[in-house]
Amino acid sequence: MPVLKAVQHFCFGEIHIHREVRPMARQPCHACIARQFPSDSQVTRRDQIAVMPVLNRSIGRVFAGLLTIGSVLGLASLALGQGRDAPLEVQQVAPGIYVHHAIVSLMTRENEGAIANVGFIIGQASVAVIDTGGSVAEGRRLLAAVRAVTEKPIRYVINTHDHPDHVFGNAAFVAAGTEFVGHVALPAAMAARMEFYRSAFRRAMGDELIDEVKSVPPTLLVEKEMVLDLGARRLVLRAWPAAHTDTDLTVFDEATATLFAGDLLFVEHVPVLDGRLKGWLGLMDELAAIAAKRAVPGHGPPSVDWPDALSPERHYLERLAEDVRAEIAKGTPLAAAAKAAGNSEAERWKLFDEYNARNATAAYQELEWE
Ligand SMILES: [Zn+2]
Repeated sequence: MPVLKAVQHFCFGEIHIHREVRPMARQPCHACIARQFPSDSQVTRRDQIAVMPVLNRSIGRVFAGLLTIGSVLGLASLALGQGRDAPLEVQQVAPGIYVHHAIVSLMTRENEGAIANVGFIIGQASVAVIDTGGSVAEGRRLLAAVRAVTEKPIRYVINTHDHPDHVFGNAAFVAAGTEFVGHVALPAAMAARMEFYRSAFRRAMGDELIDEVKSVPPTLLVEKEMVLDLGARRLVLRAWPAAHTDTDLTVFDEATATLFAGDLLFVEHVPVLDGRLKGWLGLMDELAAIAAKRAVPGHGPPSVDWPDALSPERHYLERLAEDVRAEIAKGTPLAAAAKAAGNSEAERWKLFDEYNARNATAAYQELEWE
């Protein structure tokens, strides 16, 4: 009979307390899914949760601010006559590789969830799209951007992991002859989380954008490594053990030595931990050893030097681990530890206040079992 233990963690901006055995941080947690979907038999055994809307209020203020700014920008773009499916702005970061340089922000109605760098690679015969954005509307705009450059068929749509800002646009690319590609664990992760994500983001993004979001899981699965050929252009896909998430996948274009790192690489945007901190830190040397000239981070500039661009993220994650271990050793309760850990990094990152305490909470739950 397992011992029940009070577990506190952050989940989508709320502090939840669960009475359950949960050795690792997972967001959304089962109890949160239970709150959204009480009929789910998998979670009915879990105890009820208490929600303290402390952090929620501050996130609400951020959203309100973004909505105000976004409304003005939205009117401005309407005034310029841009339609909904106007091509997403992209830039060529290497021959045949185009990337949308996304803003660093939370997902909102006004930005259509377009907060992750998404892109595409053109081979002699076909095109691969890498991540589809935070809404079907963004996905359509990315599709329009592809079509503005090439008529070649989109053979592959690759998802770098299961987060909504990377997969919500998938439905825009469903077509005969297009195969969806992802980490071997991605279909299960999407099955477990997509409905939760849809309801979690409905508040910030609105019905119109969320209603058309569908779960389109990959059918071509990468267990370790896979090579895709776009016609005289080979892409090497690698599936990684749990780090940023447990569905992380990277794409390496051999022709230009360009690495699409997904959210294994954050630049400017504070790293977000939804997998395993020790796992992520454990990958750093292997990632750095990839013979890429440049990388496309999941968030930040569209192209950065590799492996130099990894250093700030590595520093942040090491600091987080060190601080959390020190708090655990002192016996600091989780909530206080989450407020204290990693704070020396605050000035170096955007969206620090939105994510750091959540990262520290996830780290605490992982490291207290060491
Ligand atoms: Zn992510």
